[in-house]
Amino acid sequence: MHAHETLPADRGALLQALTHSLGHAQDSGELVGVILLRIQRLKDIRIEYGYDESDLVYEQFVGQLRGCLREKDMIARISNDEFALMLPGLKNPAQPVMAINKIQRTCGEPIEINGNRVKMKFAFGASVGPEDAPQAEALLRCADLALRDAETANVESVRYCDLEKTGETPVFRMENELERAISTGELVAHYQPIVDIETGRLTGAEMLSRWPDGPEGCAVDAATFIAVAEQSGLIVPLTRWALNNSLRECADWQNDLPNLPVSVNFSALALADPHLSEIVQSALNLWGADAGRLTVEITESSIMADPENCLRLLNHLHDAGVRIAIDDFGTGYSSLAYLKELPVDILKIDQSFVLNMTRTEADRRIVQAVIDLAHNFDLTVVAEGVEDEETLDTLTLMGCQRAQGYHVGRPMAAGDLASWFSASDWDPVEASATPAEQAVDFEIG
Ligand code: C2E
Ligand code: CA
Ligand code: CA
Repeated sequence: MHAHETLPADRGALLQALTHSLGHAQDSGELVGVILLRIQRLKDIRIEYGYDESDLVYEQFVGQLRGCLREKDMIARISNDEFALMLPGLKNPAQPVMAINKIQRTCGEPIEINGNRVKMKFAFGASVGPEDAPQAEALLRCADLALRDAETANVESVRYCDLEKTGETPVFRMENELERAISTGELVAHYQPIVDIETGRLTGAEMLSRWPDGPEGCAVDAATFIAVAEQSGLIVPLTRWALNNSLRECADWQNDLPNLPVSVNFSALALADPHLSEIVQSALNLWGADAGRLTVEITESSIMADPENCLRLLNHLHDAGVRIAIDDFGTGYSSLAYLKELPVDILKIDQSFVLNMTRTEADRRIVQAVIDLAHNFDLTVVAEGVEDEETLDTLTLMGCQRAQGYHVGRPMAAGDLASWFSASDWDPVEASATPAEQAVDFEIG
């Protein structure tokens, strides 16, 4: 409806009018604003005061909203508690934000329901066409992205292009680019050495994914794009790539760094991939790697996401000779009971405890407790985040077997690992590090 009409339009009518206004804007050089507005507590009002009261509140709100807008603006109801406003013929891209302020002032006043004063709460997202998008659907989606960002950041409003100004790429755009990056092989594997501090030998390398040319040509940090991959399901192809790529590079190292085992991170959703066992087996076959060369790192929380599936899968991998490491150990809130159920070989002490252990007594005690626990369960223990000599020495005295961290070596490109190793004091990987008798065939099922 246009602001003077009684009932709000629906989404279809809005898109039609928006298309029309955008067409006009192309010719006139004017702008079209879109505001998405969510009433955050309409449902609470309905639950507490009933349908009649919430309908009254709704009608009162629509009346106030109409009073804030110009004749030619349009109000559409998108869902129960969500409205889209179209503001055609704007001269200035800041006008939607000014309208939001006005709506806040007018509709944000407490209203009386059954003698109680109830304050409504709203979240707004705004976009401006054709600047943000030249098409109706896309422009509405920009406003939707902005609304989601307003709600996640718990702020009243966000304008779509603000997202770009803050340097944050909207999640879906990152998702699309990540999908492309995975399929075109733009992700890069870095490897961080893991050493045995008891024997002085190199014992493996952890593969860490890198995205050097993300959106806008900027590198994206691993934690960010891995989270996006997890949310979107792209973690499944990413993990397949990670496996194949690291086993291929392992094969390349055979001359300079023979028998070097590699660790690959498997996140919760990757573990849910029903084809994971087969994928691991075919990657091992393809690159002629013994199963003992591969360590799979999983976190406690991803075990807890689906313990039954995890147990089945890990038993399968472990029976075939793959090593299993619990990553970020000590940060989960799960019970330790899984340690006796799961075929775990390695505990990796989370770096948050290791980073400050020489300065903080409590961290040192946690590190010692994990080392003792690992010894009691006959597990190998790795300290992550070893940043200096003092930490390395302390860990040695505490009975920790393995170390990983900037002090030993930073994550580096596959081609740099051999020269890092020859310049270091560490001895070569033990030849028997990959016992052949463990390399039994997988049985899929
Ligand atoms: P993570 O598995 O715990 O990996 C260790 C992280 O600690 C890496 O961060 C590494 O660069 C960093 N690090 C290593 N040594 C030190 C140190 O001495 N000091 C400090 N402050 N940090 C150190 P990165 O590469 O940014 O990766 C972050 C997380 O992203 C990883 O944590 C892992 O959970 C995830 N990740 C990275 N690549 C992959 C992947 O291919 N698949 C999956 N599923 N997750 C991945
Ligand atoms: Ca890890
Ligand atoms: Ca870790």
